[in-house]
Amino acid sequence: MRGVPRCPSCSYDLSATAADICPECGTRSTVDERLQPAPPAVWSRIAAFFTLIACGVFAGWWSVHADRYPSLVAPFNVLFSIPWIVGLQILGIGLLAVMATLFAWPILRESPGHCWARLTSHALGWTLSAVWFGLGTRFGFQYQGLGYVACGIILNIAALAIIIYAAWRGRRRREFGADFVLTLLLVVWACTYGFPYLGELP
Ligand SMILES: [Zn+2]
Repeated sequence: MRGVPRCPSCSYDLSATAADICPECGTRSTVDERLQPAPPAVWSRIAAFFTLIACGVFAGWWSVHADRYPSLVAPFNVLFSIPWIVGLQILGIGLLAVMATLFAWPILRESPGHCWARLTSHALGWTLSAVWFGLGTRFGFQYQGLGYVACGIILNIAALAIIIYAAWRGRRRREFGADFVLTLLLVVWACTYGFPYLGELP
């Protein structure tokens, strides 16, 4: 289904103009970019939002239960593993839900293609992840080994490269399915390999 022609950058209604430049923000666009599918209904965005949070929480929980010790298949996401070690599973699930929400909320927006909202949460999440690796890498070397830390960092860089590429590809088109998959990747990354456990289990 196709809606009214709108500016791919600011959503301004372009049905009154024949020019290829948006009178509101000055973005130039093609006919294809202007005629995007109608935005998904509110309920489907809300359903997608909670599905993403559930996937993030499950991925983080799984990251601790897939193996007995931190490994590349079980990165022991720190948000769940530290509360879990001291017997506070509920707190761990809550922390995972907060992390998942940080990345999932832009899916609630009518035009997820406009990526400023998402960039803000990306920047925050990636900065936290970089700080985490910066502070924890020497413990990772000491307790988990060079292979674990190096593979973890390579995996993170590869995941982020895919996410950045997909976000860049989708920057002008509003496709809910593609946006959902991209957000899912981000949420699962943040709840697993973004913040792996780098120390020693007590
Ligand atoms: Zn515009």
